Amino acid sequence: MVALLVIANAWWWWVQEPDVAPMDLVERLAVLREDRAESARVEEPKPNPDDPWLGLAPPLEVPADRLARIALAPEPVPEERLTTVGQGDTLDHALDRLFIHGEVKRKVIAGYRTLHDPRLIRPGQRLFAQFEQASPMDAESLISLVVAPVGRGEGTTVVRAHDEEGAVFYRARPGGLPGHMSRQVLRCPISGPLAVSIRRCGHGDGLTRLVAALLSLRLDLRKHLNRGDELRVVFDELVADDARVRYERVVALRFKGQRATFTGVSWEDEKGRVAIYTPSGDALEPMFLRDLVYGARLTSVFGLRMHPILKKMKPHLGIDLAAPIGTPVRAAADGVLLARRRAGAAGRIVRIRHGRHMSSEYFHLQRWARRLYPGKKVRRGQVIGYVGNTGRSTAPHLHFGVRKDGKHVDPLKAFNTPGKAVPARQREAFKRQVKPLLSLLDRIDVVAEKRGLVARSAPKGKR
Ligand SMILES: [Zn+2]
Repeated sequence: MVALLVIANAWWWWVQEPDVAPMDLVERLAVLREDRAESARVEEPKPNPDDPWLGLAPPLEVPADRLARIALAPEPVPEERLTTVGQGDTLDHALDRLFIHGEVKRKVIAGYRTLHDPRLIRPGQRLFAQFEQASPMDAESLISLVVAPVGRGEGTTVVRAHDEEGAVFYRARPGGLPGHMSRQVLRCPISGPLAVSIRRCGHGDGLTRLVAALLSLRLDLRKHLNRGDELRVVFDELVADDARVRYERVVALRFKGQRATFTGVSWEDEKGRVAIYTPSGDALEPMFLRDLVYGARLTSVFGLRMHPILKKMKPHLGIDLAAPIGTPVRAAADGVLLARRRAGAAGRIVRIRHGRHMSSEYFHLQRWARRLYPGKKVRRGQVIGYVGNTGRSTAPHLHFGVRKDGKHVDPLKAFNTPGKAVPARQREAFKRQVKPLLSLLDRIDVVAEKRGLVARSAPKGKR
């Protein structure tokens, strides 16, 4: 049960985690350290029953019955095992789950430590271990261990080596995911909820998670999917020994539906930041993250209203999002922290500047995230504080406000403002790069048919 919870947590984190654009090492370490500190103290928010991902299988783990078989296997056969770092987990514990123990575990950690601080291991990171033989009793048969990052990036491999005296030690080197990346296409009719449709088209929930993250930029997946809508996806998967290790990323996607039709292509800018754009180079993603508070309910909108405490008409300069005390509050967009202080009726607040014209504000926080000081860079989706009831507030909620050139604007409208487009000077490079992806989306039937991948029309069944 505990293991299940750990898996579920790790998976939840993984689902929540947007692709992390490369940061410089110092920044990255600071962020990791902070995440670690936070995750040690913060309670996991309750799962939202409306979550389209709820109930999907967690990432692949070694099933218990398989472990039993491994233990009984008479012949030494090579073995790969996989585990995911959970909330509050340690490298030590993760290695235990892979049956890497004793002296070998000590050596593996010592090797890893030459490149990274093992304490900074982070929920959602995955560990792939390769053994000479499938016996959990024999940790010495460990050939290599890959520690994969949460987002994109190459990870770290710890490999078995021998010193001059022939003694075994483990050496760490950057990079080395097992297997290779393979580009795949999928044309899939919507025949029910997204996960069900994608399963009927022969793919796993890992792909559903990637696709859902992109579709939900434009659609409410609970309301806007209809039977007969069509999804086309170009994606990369990691393949080892002719088997899929995992779905890596969606590189292009087209949705043709009753509610909306759009195409998205992913593109990496010169700073290595990956985002999804329309074919003409506009952002598919809105400027501000909609999921500021996981599972929150919108209880008050922008505009004139009767003030619940003052009992008079007063403009409400933001929106209210109700959620239990302690629910993490995330930054709406990349920016620089302007303020983190107490502000009378607003309680504990955070203000963030986004570019030259926009800023966002977060009121009534219970407390702030650690190491958050004015002038510090904040990333989109980063936890900046926790929902509270401080200041003039009747119930736990986040008041979220947006200002343009200092004047308050309706945050709900701001949520629909597109994010940063591809810069003009990079448009040509962008167009060159996405052209083959767009043509692949157009020709997907031909390509898929050649590979025998076309899903037949949706099976009849209840939605
Ligand atoms: Zn409010």
